[in-house]
Amino acid sequence: MSRRTLALDDTLYRYLLDTSLREHAELAALREATRAHPRAGMQISPEQGQFMALLVKLIGARRTIEVGVFTGYSALAVALALPADGRVLACDVSDDFTALGRPHWERAGVADRIELVLAPALQTLDARFAANEAGAYDFAFIDADKVSYDGYYERCLQLVRAGGLIAIDNTLWSGRVAAPAQDEDTAALQQFNRKLHRDERIDLALLPIGDGLTLARRR
Ligand code: CA
Repeated sequence: MSRRTLALDDTLYRYLLDTSLREHAELAALREATRAHPRAGMQISPEQGQFMALLVKLIGARRTIEVGVFTGYSALAVALALPADGRVLACDVSDDFTALGRPHWERAGVADRIELVLAPALQTLDARFAANEAGAYDFAFIDADKVSYDGYYERCLQLVRAGGLIAIDNTLWSGRVAAPAQDEDTAALQQFNRKLHRDERIDLALLPIGDGLTLARRR
């Protein structure tokens, strides 16, 4: 049997960070500022942010979408990886969460690259589609309420160009997806993962980074 992905214990995870993490000072400051937040667990890990920044550069992304901003760590990581005229369409419903990130976006000098829209993301994405923006985006990151993942995904698939990339967070859901679902979030993620497995419109990878990160490249 081929070698499986390593399980990371604390020592090896620390080593991974010590030898590879290149975190912008404002990303580190934002992570610190979010640490005390009761929902700090919603923030992506720093190595995942760095990985997504690399993906954004690899595909030469200029216009990106984020569904679920929380305090703005991933939006900042992506914005820092974009060219000066790049844009993040950042969709969230909470001004409280995003207000925590905004000063860090400013100090990092990329606040003008992040267009924050405070409204239900399905509405925002539908409006962009209606405004003839189908295929106008290069990259999307979905990390919001799990029961709406399929709706976000279908809209992002319309808005992202062929060859563009959609990254979807929490697709391993702390392992709960591998057992019978006890709640609607788990059931939604299971259904979503099954759907993408056979979705011929995309190329697919599910990475065991963070809480599971699915990559779907639009064909
Ligand atoms: Ca997440």
